[in-house]
Amino acid sequence: MTVCIDIGGSTSRLGFSNNKRKFDKIIRFTTFDNFQDQINRIIFEIKSQSLDISKINIAAAGSLDKKKGIFIKWGQKKLWRGQNIFQPLFQAFPKASFLLENDANVAALGEAVYGAGRNYSLVGYLTLSSGIGGCLIINKKITPHHFGIEPAHQIINFYETKVWSCGQRGCFESYASGTAFKQIFGITAEECDDKNIWKAYSKLVAVGLANLIVLWSPEIMVIGGGVANKFEQFISPLKLELKKLLPIFNTPLILKSKLNDAGLYGWFAFK
Ligand SMILES: [Zn+2]
Repeated sequence: MTVCIDIGGSTSRLGFSNNKRKFDKIIRFTTFDNFQDQINRIIFEIKSQSLDISKINIAAAGSLDKKKGIFIKWGQKKLWRGQNIFQPLFQAFPKASFLLENDANVAALGEAVYGAGRNYSLVGYLTLSSGIGGCLIINKKITPHHFGIEPAHQIINFYETKVWSCGQRGCFESYASGTAFKQIFGITAEECDDKNIWKAYSKLVAVGLANLIVLWSPEIMVIGGGVANKFEQFISPLKLELKKLLPIFNTPLILKSKLNDAGLYGWFAFK
């Protein structure tokens, strides 16, 4: 039995699968701020299933040491810095093998293979949730990279003086993430139905997205994450902004993500 784990800033998911085609069970819970509480909950949930676990695949945010299983830095979970996720899980499940990958990369792969991007070979994925993540999937594979693919931390305002949780100034995440939405507009994206706010927000998203489009040149951009639940509110103004920003560049197709648990399903296509 394989357990796939997706640890997001807000929600964690555990999927149990026997065949790399479907999950027999998916468990969701709110991600803990305390690393030890998170580990305890994961071990509890897996042990409660009384299954023979051969593989544990973990998708997580932040910058990671994927070989050693270490959270190097995650702006949203400062207490997780330097923590090793393989060690306690290996103690609990010594027969299992482990993989760790960036959560947005796995979700991008899920959408590119099974979701909105399944008919395309160059699929850009951007997740707008409490943080921002994203990746380009080429021929159903995660783009090779040395350190990490971090569209969240592209600088879109050189003049910004305020330091964001990652330690940078002026990065995309500090304007277009769900966290930034609440700070800038005083309301959560989920609660907001104000057209003017969505228009203002789409301008912020457009700057970072335009950069990704010219760098990645994808056939399609898939937008996922919690903010994408309001896709219909911002897609029209977003397309207009992109046209203004990129007059000489054809804007690719932009679609909302299709899978609820892309960060789990991506593991089925992971190589
Ligand atoms: Zn940043």
